[in-house]
Amino acid sequence: MKIGVIGGGLTGLVAANRLVQEHEVHIFEKMPYLGGCLSSYNVNDYWVERYYHHFFSGDTSLFALITEMGLSDKIEWKTGTTGYLAKNKIYPLNTPRQILHYPELSIIDKAKLAWLTLTAKRTDLKALDDIPAEQYIIGHLGQNVYSSFFEPLLKSKFGEQRKDVSAAWLISRVAIRSDRGVSGERLGYLTGGFHLLIDSLERSITSKGGVIKKQTPVSSISYTNGVWEANGTRYDAIISTIPPQVLERIGGPSIPFIPYQGAACMTLAMDREVTEGIYWLNMKDAAPYGAVVTHTNLIPAKRYGEHIVYLASYFSGTVPAHLDSDMINDFCTRFSVSPSEIKWHNMAVDPWAGPVYRTGFRSLIPAYEHRGLFMAGMFSLTNYPERSMEGSIRAGSEVAECVKTRSTDGRT
Ligand SMILES: Cc1cc2nc3c(=O)[nH]c(=O)nc-3n(C[C@H](O)[C@H](O)[C@H](O)COP(=O)(O)OP(=O)(O)OC[C@H]3O[C@@H](n4cnc5c(N)ncnc54)[C@H](O)[C@@H]3O)c2cc1C
Repeated sequence: MKIGVIGGGLTGLVAANRLVQEHEVHIFEKMPYLGGCLSSYNVNDYWVERYYHHFFSGDTSLFALITEMGLSDKIEWKTGTTGYLAKNKIYPLNTPRQILHYPELSIIDKAKLAWLTLTAKRTDLKALDDIPAEQYIIGHLGQNVYSSFFEPLLKSKFGEQRKDVSAAWLISRVAIRSDRGVSGERLGYLTGGFHLLIDSLERSITSKGGVIKKQTPVSSISYTNGVWEANGTRYDAIISTIPPQVLERIGGPSIPFIPYQGAACMTLAMDREVTEGIYWLNMKDAAPYGAVVTHTNLIPAKRYGEHIVYLASYFSGTVPAHLDSDMINDFCTRFSVSPSEIKWHNMAVDPWAGPVYRTGFRSLIPAYEHRGLFMAGMFSLTNYPERSMEGSIRAGSEVAECVKTRSTDGRT
């Protein structure tokens, strides 16, 4: 079969890699680089991800892919520390002692939080899809736990849309983040950066005859007499990994609207770090970013020769005007950093950075196949109720299996 893949992110690359041995595969990627949300760039002779990334101990498909690509010796495990910035003070929240001293929660609140963490893994997420996270937390743990602990997280991740987010999303996050040691969370990284994984996939696909067309957006698809075309070329099957509503605009099928949000992520480098050793600092105080993610508080700064800091924010619609300068100005003032200390900075913006897991989201998830057009990506069931590298790898593998089944069914 001749197969067209729209999107050279993780889902598209994994699907193409599964199919390229037996089929003619063409990948279309609109950007000059591969990797999508997991793409990286080179600066000062090292590679850095456009958006902060780490993995979790349960990411079995990711580990299998890393091994298949010959990179298993690059897996490294670190302790990811977290904290809150509240009333201009940094509170580390890792050890039981630190949690006990966090003044924004009472002892009873902390006990309730511990109960939620212990039970999260056993909670039936399906049943929580229709319940707003806010209602669930206030109902089970009280108003203060919501405003002092969960609301800053929801705000940093979903902004004004936080009120619509389902309890399924929130509890899945609590469950995944409950893999903790005594001093923090166990998080994984690929020594040298995730670009190694993307590059290996690229090499694997092209070495088997796959064609990767970078800087080549698919601007139209059509369906005539049972055949799909992309940019005017006929394909026996097309796999789209872009948001379904973007696909619809270029000729794809009309399916229920999947709510999405954008990410705006500022990366900056300095010679010192300012979050007191914390990797992931949530902002309880209002700021133009929801978290300060100091990559070099997870991975040693000496590997880079400088500290790398991400200022993370999400938006709906269009990215707010002047967000980049607002972020830098706020960061400098709040953390007493002179602008001259910022050695370089880079703003990454992706208007389609991930679905918003509103109540009822599960029922919106499209099937992999629509009349010979295949759809998989961050909106797939494998990425519910939170998108991840793991979910996108599984989506890519599963959609490739569907295409294979179709080809052996003799339907093409
Ligand atoms: C800020 C941020 C932080 C994250 N952190 C983590 C983390 O720590 N751990 C984790 O597991 N996951 C994390 N993720 C999630 C993870 O990056 C994604 O789940 C995964 O990379 C998505 O891959 P994808 O291929 O499904 O989608 P995408 O990466 O969005 O790929 C889609 C591709 O399609 C291309 N495209 C779009 N339109 C067209 C067109 N018309 N024609 C051709 N190409 C087109 C895009 O350029 C893109 O390359 C994070 C994501 C973000 C945004």
